Amino acid sequence: MSEVIESEALATLHRVFGYDAFRGEQEAVIEHVVSGGDAVVLMPTGGGKSLCYQIPAMVRPGTGVVVSPLIALMQDQVDALRALGVRAGFMNSTQDFDERRIVEAEFLAGELDVIYLAPERLRLDSTLDLLSRGKISVFAIDEAHCVAQWGHDFRPDYLALSVLGQRWPDVPRIALTATATHATHQEITQRLGMPDAKHFVASFDRPNIQYRIVGKADPKKQLLTFLKQEHEGDAGIVYCLSRKSVEATAEFLSKNGIEAVPYHAGLDAGTRAANQSRFLREEGLVVCATIAFGMGIDKPDVRFVAHLDLPKSVEGYYQETGRAGRDGLASTAWMAYGLQDVVQQRKLINMGEGDEAFRRRASSHLDAMLALCETAQCRRTQLLQYFGQDPQSADCGNCDTCLSPPETWDGTVAAQKILSTVVRLDRERRQKFGAGQIIDILMGRRTAKVIQFDHDQLSVFGIGEDLSEAEWRGAVRQLLAQGLIAVEGEYGTLVLTEESGSVLGRQREVRLRKEAPKPAAARSSSRD
Ligand code: ADP
Ligand code: ZN
Repeated sequence: MSEVIESEALATLHRVFGYDAFRGEQEAVIEHVVSGGDAVVLMPTGGGKSLCYQIPAMVRPGTGVVVSPLIALMQDQVDALRALGVRAGFMNSTQDFDERRIVEAEFLAGELDVIYLAPERLRLDSTLDLLSRGKISVFAIDEAHCVAQWGHDFRPDYLALSVLGQRWPDVPRIALTATATHATHQEITQRLGMPDAKHFVASFDRPNIQYRIVGKADPKKQLLTFLKQEHEGDAGIVYCLSRKSVEATAEFLSKNGIEAVPYHAGLDAGTRAANQSRFLREEGLVVCATIAFGMGIDKPDVRFVAHLDLPKSVEGYYQETGRAGRDGLASTAWMAYGLQDVVQQRKLINMGEGDEAFRRRASSHLDAMLALCETAQCRRTQLLQYFGQDPQSADCGNCDTCLSPPETWDGTVAAQKILSTVVRLDRERRQKFGAGQIIDILMGRRTAKVIQFDHDQLSVFGIGEDLSEAEWRGAVRQLLAQGLIAVEGEYGTLVLTEESGSVLGRQREVRLRKEAPKPAAARSSSRD
């Protein structure tokens, strides 16, 4: 680093932020941008991306313009910077006319170090004209993966950001993201028009986080056992899909001696703010939340992140689990996952809005997530490879599959039994059947619904008495994950796929992971 830049950047780090030294790639990124170069920065959540643009914004003459989609966080970010003495402001739709006028005047007078903007503002000529009348030190494009159409977070407004390079060719641009596969990375560079940008890629490995994914039997009880055994008194986050299960889980934990509060968009703002600030302030509070919680939450000593429902993508999973262990101390990413998760997510995609391309994308994100859940290999290796990174070794020694390698078995015959049953039920056009009915038939159970449809007369009735219910559910789940059967429509009807034929025709072997035995504390009648 050139000495002048080094001293100014480092002096700013000490004086304004009170930190001793740069972390990882920060120093190299900052030097490059301060010198006027474009940069694309891939750094995991918590890696310290903000300083990568905040310091250049302060060191270079003019105002740093930060484009961020997280409108809800702008006020907090600006308040935090102001508390450090940084001259910061923001412009978004939450402001009234007068507030915006004040910020505009400050910008034009050169009285701001940093200004945060929502991407949609940059589609307005009025905003671009305003920016032209002031002096800009750097453009920072945060959450840059939002520009990628195949990403999980696409925002059309980001496509307009290529105008920045055209209109201000002399102002350096820095694009930052925590979630980018190789393809997304390429798309960012291309769509933002940054072919000459230097790329800085930090490692995505979080060695202090232990990854574990367990079979779902009685999720709340399994969670309680996990917390009692390993994280009594620790702060952590429990993610659930629905508001209802957020509430139920928080209540259940509280009743069982683990202090927990709910957090979701349906709570009033006051309760939400109070619960969030308790979480930040107190030592051992658990927050049960929908995914809305955690964006921009900066608590270093989160000791665990638990998922009671399956995230929709590996990116989401990585981001959420990444909120654990920012202090570098041992932490756990724990998830309970079962057949119902797969069926439910497939149904959501089938019924959801969006065109065919959107569904295909959602579906391939889910496939990658399922592959991570079902892998018999090291989870960390699989995660890192998903993000296009090579792991240091094939086995990390700090995930469940490394710590107790799962056994696999030849599930070809079991798969054929399942598929044959699906074929037989498919012939009955009038009624569609899901996984539960298929397992009941295989296990030879004369339930009301089996008798109603004469399914005890089928040749496949009772041919699956050799396996347990848990094993059958596991087999169906894995066939779904491997694309050997599919879920159709809103009732979760099981149907064959193009791949099914090769199994039925005995042209391929199906390897399945053995289901782990249910933990003693979680034995109960509840399914999945
Ligand atoms: P990201 O945006 O990549 O998720 P942040 O920029 O929010 O990460 O930084 C995460 C945390 O690390 C913040 O608390 C930040 O103040 C802290 N941090 C960043 N850089 C340094 C550093 N060089 N030294 C100490 N702490 C740092
Ligand atoms: Zn591992």
